[in-house]
Amino acid sequence: MNIIEIKDLVKIYDSTEIEVTAVNHINLNFEKGEFSAVVGPSGSGKTTFLNLLGGLDRPTAGHIMIDGIDLWSLKPRQITDFRLHNIGFVFQSYNLLPVLTAKENVEFIMDLQGWPKAEREKRAKELLEAVGLGDRIHSRPGKLSGGQQQRVAVARALASKPKFILADEPTANLDSHSTENLLDIMEKLNREEGITFIFSTHDARVVKKAHRVITLEDGKVLSDEKK
Ligand code: ADP
Ligand code: MG
Repeated sequence: MNIIEIKDLVKIYDSTEIEVTAVNHINLNFEKGEFSAVVGPSGSGKTTFLNLLGGLDRPTAGHIMIDGIDLWSLKPRQITDFRLHNIGFVFQSYNLLPVLTAKENVEFIMDLQGWPKAEREKRAKELLEAVGLGDRIHSRPGKLSGGQQQRVAVARALASKPKFILADEPTANLDSHSTENLLDIMEKLNREEGITFIFSTHDARVVKKAHRVITLEDGKVLSDEKK
């Protein structure tokens, strides 16, 4: 079953003097349970593509259907709400709130969603245990390594029980040991809990773990290979 259907997606940036077509007529489907990598050189449109898919940036043309809902036909406030309930994000730079502990960072989205305190505390602890940080739940991001912070970000992305997780170069700032560790955790969540991941990467070791590799070039799909 397709969870995401992308039809003739285009993004043109025309804020600068030169018009840039960052996403150029992409047509793709994603199924539930995928573990897919989006690859391509810097500037090929990976970040733009993931931002469109996640409702963070508006397409110039085309449609993104998520479980049959045309994302960008919704009103701005509905898009925010849809994103909050359906899409998990992991960014290259972790984007944790520095004043909150690991547990509070994971609880944050559940708080916005109106979960009762006891339930969100329980889920935050479970998720941090699942990413191997059961003993660091009260640490603030500044006391955690890059790899640990990114694992908190994965736990946070999972907190709202999203339909899928988008990760934009999640290992770009990690050393090889932390990269391996993060990938193992993502793969385990995919295999054992059926979590759908779509991640972009530059890193050959990360590409190797993907079950499907979509290569972008100049905003177009150059190849799409399932392993
Ligand atoms: P990647 O993530 O693969 O490096 P990006 O999606 O960041 O690629 O960029 C794709 C193209 O769009 C590049 O040519 C980039 O310069 C351009 N671009 C990205 N964001 C903007 C923006 N906000 N304004 C103008 N051009 C942009
Ligand atoms: Mg990018």
